[in-house]
Amino acid sequence: MSDALPPVLIPESDIEARVAELAQQISADYADKGELVLIGVLKGAFIFLADLSRQLSIPRAIEFIAVSSYGSGSKSGAVRLVMDVRGNIEGKHVVIVEDIVDTGNTLHYLIGILESHGPASIKTCTLLHKASATEVEVDIDYVGFAIGDEWVVGYGLDYAEQNRTLPYIGNVTPTD
Ligand code: 5GP
Repeated sequence: MSDALPPVLIPESDIEARVAELAQQISADYADKGELVLIGVLKGAFIFLADLSRQLSIPRAIEFIAVSSYGSGSKSGAVRLVMDVRGNIEGKHVVIVEDIVDTGNTLHYLIGILESHGPASIKTCTLLHKASATEVEVDIDYVGFAIGDEWVVGYGLDYAEQNRTLPYIGNVTPTD
């Protein structure tokens, strides 16, 4: 990959505005439900989770879960649990916070894992959704932006660990 910065797909100001809207919507939906547990999916969701969680106006707790795919580079593969949530989420309302939903396999797998912990409810939130790449139908309750079937980086997302901390979402052309 070249050293040039990836072209902008979603500018920083648009992300900021949309994250604020999502936070408002989630805050309204959970206003009378007590503490909400946000579960960030590592690594890609760490920046989105940080920004979203700080804009909520309701009591919230933060957990993380980590998965990896047996595929390499930009290719999707079988999903495997790397780190489960550490806190007890039994009886609690949880929202899974993802960076991107592509085929839907990862989110489908995560819902199964988290259901086994007995939460009161599970909803899903993703910053980006590649609707045209869907292989497994999963209900997504909160979506930041719909994008095309292209590889994106920045705001937590990487390509081979590069460009994860770009302040905007850019697109790159994977070489694998
Ligand atoms: P899935 O195909 O299971 O919905 O998505 C699997 C995972 O692939 C996502 O959680 C994300 O980590 C990664 N992924 C899918 N599309 C992209 C993309 O365009 N950019 C980056 N950086 N990661 C992606």
